[in-house]
Amino acid sequence: MAAVTRLTNRASFLSSSLARRYLSSDLNSHAPPYNSTPFRLVPPREEDHKNSHVRWVFLGCPGVGKGTYASRLSSLLSVPHIATGDLVREELASSGPLSSQLSEIVKQGQLVPDEIIINLLSKRLDSGEAKGKLGFILDGFPRTIKQAEILEGVADIDLVINLRLREDVLLEKCLGRRICNQCGGNFNVASIDIKAKNGSPAVVMAPLLPPTNCMSKLITRSDDTESVVKERLRIYNETSRPVEEFYRSRGKLLEFNLPGGIPESWPKLLHALNLDDYEDKHSAAA
Ligand SMILES: [Zn+2]
Repeated sequence: MAAVTRLTNRASFLSSSLARRYLSSDLNSHAPPYNSTPFRLVPPREEDHKNSHVRWVFLGCPGVGKGTYASRLSSLLSVPHIATGDLVREELASSGPLSSQLSEIVKQGQLVPDEIIINLLSKRLDSGEAKGKLGFILDGFPRTIKQAEILEGVADIDLVINLRLREDVLLEKCLGRRICNQCGGNFNVASIDIKAKNGSPAVVMAPLLPPTNCMSKLITRSDDTESVVKERLRIYNETSRPVEEFYRSRGKLLEFNLPGGIPESWPKLLHALNLDDYEDKHSAAA
């Protein structure tokens, strides 16, 4: 409960900036005069980025690439990318107060309880705040309605980006993953070129092939098998799919259909977030 109280204080301390404006079309009574186009996200002002107060969540099936896009956006906006999976791994690797409890849970293949996740998340937000980082991009949390409700009570989420990819493509992509057992590089040998069908958009993803010297050292992760991937998707559909509706009903959900790999998807995602100009300026200044 202490963690929750601390987060509540933080939530009231944080005044929303950037993404509240994004969703102003859903909040008609508060719609600022410059937002004249309905259902169009409002371009962020420069000072919004300077303050970097975005509090965003990434949703999407396991393997869809949440981590990749969350991490790229967090560098672009200079806000911490907080992946709860990383928080758990860091705590496990540390000799922190929860590490032995966590290692027991993980050893037994159980899900990490919400209280522990919230505790770790709260610690992480506190340390970010201490460094003057008031915004964040969450990846891997919330996974359930219960978690979404807890989060709602402790932090004011501005925007939830739901990354979507057809399940057949997702499966193919997961089965194509390879790791170099020498340099640890991540690659993908799947070459995906699926035509639009029954209202589903076309998806084109080029393989991400390793340099020649890694080629003979590629291995497949033991959990990238068809049955494991399908089981992860089944669990996601059962427990996490309702989280989309939770945020949709609150007017916070931005649906984004991935049109392909990073080269195709990244510019379109920036465009959907009205950040394309921002990246131009950002790279020009760099
Ligand atoms: Zn290698």
